Amino acid sequence: MTTPRAVGLVFLLLVLPGSALAEVNVYSARKEALIKPLLDRFSADTGIEVNLVSGNADALLKRLQSEGRNSPADLFVTVDAGRLHRAKQAGVLQPVDSGLLRDAVPASYRDPDGFWFGLSLRARPIMYATGRVATAELPTYEGLADPRWHRRICIRSSDNIYNQSMVASIIAADGPKQALQWARGLVANLARAPKGGDRDQIMAAAAGQCDIAIANTYYLGQMLRSDDEQQRKAARSVAIHWPNQNGRGVHVNVSGAAVTAAAKHTADAIKLLEYLTDEPAQRWYAEANDEYPVRPATALSPTVAAWGTFKADTVNMAVLGELNAEAVRIMDRAGWK
Ligand code: FE
Repeated sequence: MTTPRAVGLVFLLLVLPGSALAEVNVYSARKEALIKPLLDRFSADTGIEVNLVSGNADALLKRLQSEGRNSPADLFVTVDAGRLHRAKQAGVLQPVDSGLLRDAVPASYRDPDGFWFGLSLRARPIMYATGRVATAELPTYEGLADPRWHRRICIRSSDNIYNQSMVASIIAADGPKQALQWARGLVANLARAPKGGDRDQIMAAAAGQCDIAIANTYYLGQMLRSDDEQQRKAARSVAIHWPNQNGRGVHVNVSGAAVTAAAKHTADAIKLLEYLTDEPAQRWYAEANDEYPVRPATALSPTVAAWGTFKADTVNMAVLGELNAEAVRIMDRAGWK
């Protein structure tokens, strides 16, 4: 039944596009527990409704591409600069000009053209079995190719974006020729054919299958706080080595977000982006996944603070995306499975 009042309401909604519907549609590749509470708080603070669609990172990017101009998404949230760069290249993002975002996010953690912004930081250092490796012999990234580590290193496969971005950082620092030579040396030093995720490399090091594991820091944090005693035990038997402290620093990467090219709620999407880089959100977001905030001087969680401070590589994250294809080629040529 359509009453005159209902007709009047529909009319009002039609003549006031946007203004009656303060909302932001988010496509997110993060686990819901890592972002939903923050989005709820944003809604409570601003009255702007947030609709969250969670999914696999690569699937969501494909979806943005196939939906094109008709995509309902306003904000895209994903992990790894390599992926954010891919989205920019695919034409599904739009640049954002915001002084708040520029102030909150250091230049190396955002796209130089404003197409995406880092929201949290993860490091990919060297982890080692404390009982079997003397701290004095701990290598730089480059040193992982040294024959002294023959069959002592565990790392996941080359189709993983974290490794591709790490190799991109080696290309950026040492050049492609050196990077290829390095990748060949690393492959020769693997304790086993790459398999599993980052956690599995830490588990393997704890189980004595290798002495060194390459993994993102938050996996160690999750294992330390795991309900599973085996995971906690494994995590306690490895330690973090922050490599390249006399040079460019530790390889880091970001999780980040971007306003989509198809956005119909652009202003509110930017508001949400700014909210996520503000101090309270930064503290919560980093702590939820044992990551580092991108906003300088934001407090660290106790788990993360216990790992100590380190110098991070300041290469612009966008470079990791630009060098992604070359990194993949180098890994293939080196026989990195
Ligand atoms: Fe991860």
